[in-house]
Amino acid sequence: MSTSSETANIIENMDNLVGDGTLLRFQPFSSCLDPNFWFKVCQLKLDVDKLEEVHRSLIGYYDSKSSPFVSLDCSSFNQEVNYETSSKYIAHGHCLNKNTIDSFKNCDKNELLKEFGERMLNDFRSGKAIEDPSIIPVFDILMYSDLKKFIFYYWFAFPSLANPKYYLTDTPTILKNTFSAAQFDLLVSGFQNLNINQRGFFGVVSTDDGNLKVMTLKQYIDVLQNNVENDFTNYLVFADPSDLLNNPGWPLRNLLYLILLHCPSIRNSVLRVIALRGSPTSKFSTSMLFNIKLSSNIEMGFQPDDIAFVGWEKNSKGIFCPKYVDLSKTMDSKKQARESVDLNLKLMKWRIAPDLNLDVIAQSKCLIIGAGTLGCCIARNLMSWGVRNITFIDSGKVSYSNPVRQSLYKHAHCINANTYKATAAAEALREIYPEINSKGVVMSIPMPGHAANIDDHENINLLSELIENHDVIFLVTDSRESRWLPTMLSTLHNKLAITAALGFDSYLVLRHGVVVQDVSTNEKKLGCYFCNDVTAPGNSLVDRTLDQQCTVTRPGVSSIAGALAVELFVSCIQLKYNAPANATSCLGVIPHSIRGFLCDFQQIMPCTPSFFQCIACSLKVVNDFLNNREEFLLNVFRNPNYLEDLTGLTDLKNKFENIQILELNDSDVEDSETYNDQTVTAID
Ligand SMILES: [Zn+2]
Repeated sequence: MSTSSETANIIENMDNLVGDGTLLRFQPFSSCLDPNFWFKVCQLKLDVDKLEEVHRSLIGYYDSKSSPFVSLDCSSFNQEVNYETSSKYIAHGHCLNKNTIDSFKNCDKNELLKEFGERMLNDFRSGKAIEDPSIIPVFDILMYSDLKKFIFYYWFAFPSLANPKYYLTDTPTILKNTFSAAQFDLLVSGFQNLNINQRGFFGVVSTDDGNLKVMTLKQYIDVLQNNVENDFTNYLVFADPSDLLNNPGWPLRNLLYLILLHCPSIRNSVLRVIALRGSPTSKFSTSMLFNIKLSSNIEMGFQPDDIAFVGWEKNSKGIFCPKYVDLSKTMDSKKQARESVDLNLKLMKWRIAPDLNLDVIAQSKCLIIGAGTLGCCIARNLMSWGVRNITFIDSGKVSYSNPVRQSLYKHAHCINANTYKATAAAEALREIYPEINSKGVVMSIPMPGHAANIDDHENINLLSELIENHDVIFLVTDSRESRWLPTMLSTLHNKLAITAALGFDSYLVLRHGVVVQDVSTNEKKLGCYFCNDVTAPGNSLVDRTLDQQCTVTRPGVSSIAGALAVELFVSCIQLKYNAPANATSCLGVIPHSIRGFLCDFQQIMPCTPSFFQCIACSLKVVNDFLNNREEFLLNVFRNPNYLEDLTGLTDLKNKFENIQILELNDSDVEDSETYNDQTVTAID
């Protein structure tokens, strides 16, 4: 790539002696970027700029302690100066983040530098740079970010005018040779009284009594403009990042042009320039004094045709070409995983779903009751959506048939039949994605009609607490009766519960109604898993063959239902937990329930309101639990018909006979020892 700075470099390397003295050459700035600068670039590109190629303002810092670096970090994007780094000097800049590597490579670098330079020149011509000298040293960054690989290509430009040329009339000297200790003290105190924006460039005038008076650049230029005969008592001062004895730093190049632009009468004079080096605490003891004269061709660089810019940064090999940084090699692997996962999700917001609320998904606390085929599938889909908090409840252990269908388990988990699913699943999630907060709770769910649960207060309390502390409850146990208590407790705590259940080649995914505003009424609330059912769950161990105890399903059914359960949840929380059936979020319609049939690959989305006599979510049941908790639970666990009697279902059933209800569930053959269920329930 050919640049105007290459041309300028050739000119600069020509014979140094042209009759005016030694050609003055400036030590260029170098860029120094903290890794957190690039993380901010990633975040802004992903979350804010997206497909826009935005010119973004930046603030960089440099110092005068022998380091020609302009440093940038994540705070550089702040529009206000960081006063904590006020011991440094400010440089203002812009960055332009291109969308593709090709547009980064192919854009015209000469034109771009001219554009950067013209912007700077406008501030010089208007006098803005005199009022605020911190905009004298400027920089621009052309960049392309490969966000997937964490590789960044960038090219810094520190625009400056190629002309005119400046000459040293004599050898630069240490300022100590000229200034007394008392004058240094005056210089330091005057410097400290300046505003931070003024400290990089200012003026010093010797007074008749030998004292020094520090003044702003604007005041200094006023002095120059009114003092045609330069009397060798004025000094132009700039904070010099250079560490070279004969070469001042890059900021002086722009400063000299600014001075000449506004004080044309001094073009034949010699300027005394103090290159401020060191710090106020060291009293700038290493500062240098340069006597500088203009080229004899004083018009050069001031005519429109002569204006050319230099300033592209060379790379570490001294060649004019872009640099690149590969952060993936230095990034913590966990951070890299987090950024990469977020990237995939945030890209959805670029074009397809700009209103998608990813934060509400990431912050959701998800409780999965049942760590079987559906539970594993749901957990993995939740992780894909960026969910960070997942808790499993299950009392079972991993068995040999599980790993092929249940995606979080391996063969090793099955050996000795000694690994609990809940803890193994939680651990597997952490192995997949270390940043996840996953927990496994080994617990059996107390079930109606199971007398053994009568004294299980500890588990009931724990379940209630877990439901209360999560935002969404996925009910994916392998039996109907094990879903009753979590359904009732989810209603009690006003939590969104989503049921997924399987038949051989059919599935049901349903979100339970949530009453957020007013728990005293069930009006308009959507139905729960049990609302369409007119039989209470009971102990289904009795009189069932193996294929009846466990649902045998086509393998794809659980993946479909698990994925749908998560998608339903994500769609629903884009709006609100109690979104009405078929409301629309930014992701589309939010059905109440989804029933699918693989025999003909059909899917329907029925909606059913809550049933006032429901044995799980009706006010009667929830209130009875609240008011007579111990007696209520004793009755539920001891008497299979108690819930039906309580809600009046017994009476209802006496009126309607021979109604057949399809019941769907999820289980494997091995789970039959834990849970048993009826695939099809007929009411006698
Ligand atoms: Zn219900």
